[in-house]
Amino acid sequence: MAKVVIDGKCPYCGSAQGYMQRYVQSVTQYYGFEGEPIEASVVNHRGGTKKYCSNCERKLIIPNNQTEK
Ligand SMILES: [Zn+2]
Repeated sequence: MAKVVIDGKCPYCGSAQGYMQRYVQSVTQYYGFEGEPIEASVVNHRGGTKKYCSNCERKLIIPNNQTEK
């Protein structure tokens, strides 16, 4: 199970580096018929709730985070 970050440090490895979140994205790249890239559209499908230590990549709970669901 996830552990709570204490005093700004990872409870697993002690790193104060911070945390990361992973997103599942779908990227659509548009091209002209000459092969020139025109624009890309990025859609987030999922993500934004699970947080991981940026050093050891274990699941974390960030305290006092009102956006946690
Ligand atoms: Zn860690």
